[in-house]
Amino acid sequence: MLRGILLFGYPGSGKGTQGKILAALPGFHHVAMGDILRSLVPENPLYDRAMSYVRRGDLVPDDLVMDLFFRYIDELGCAPDAYLVIDGVPRNARQVARLNERVAIIRVFKLSVYDEGLLIERLRKRARAQGRPDDASDDVIQHRLQVYRQETESCIRSYPGMLLTRIQANQPIFDVHLDIIQALGKTRNITFR
Ligand code: ADP
Repeated sequence: MLRGILLFGYPGSGKGTQGKILAALPGFHHVAMGDILRSLVPENPLYDRAMSYVRRGDLVPDDLVMDLFFRYIDELGCAPDAYLVIDGVPRNARQVARLNERVAIIRVFKLSVYDEGLLIERLRKRARAQGRPDDASDDVIQHRLQVYRQETESCIRSYPGMLLTRIQANQPIFDVHLDIIQALGKTRNITFR
């Protein structure tokens, strides 16, 4: 079974940044649900439906998201015992159940940023740099923070507490990475081939 390392955290907490760095480890792959959704082309029949949710900062319906997610990992063609660094799934209890069907979760990271102002600053900066439609308005940003609080944060409790490590994410990228790597180093069931 594929093995999963989950990254939880508010929008702007740095899940994508850290996921990309971790993907450089042998046998590791970064799977970012937001990137999968944003890579849909307008010609794709799912595009309009998915984007209408993304633009508002709402969760895209579970069946659509999980189908895209599983299709993506099938197409990755990775070894059956690879490690997936998963950023953006699960975001609610139904997604927790669907993910468990295919991926054994071996580690859970919560990237904590206590200062909401810092998150909002990061998202505004990202809007300028990348032009993401869901970063463009403060109302949509606030809504995404609320969706995280209401639906996603509680998913963390679905996993055994011993799998969870809280990471201070309001540190420089390098220090956040070091904290994650240190915790992963203590995970006995990670082996490199
Ligand atoms: P962030 O976590 O920084 O908001 P993402 O790129 O992970 O950014 O997600 C962007 C948007 O994509 C979300 O606001 C949501 O609309 C959609 N999305 C991403 N992952 C999921 C998911 N697992 N379920 C439903 N919608 C999702």
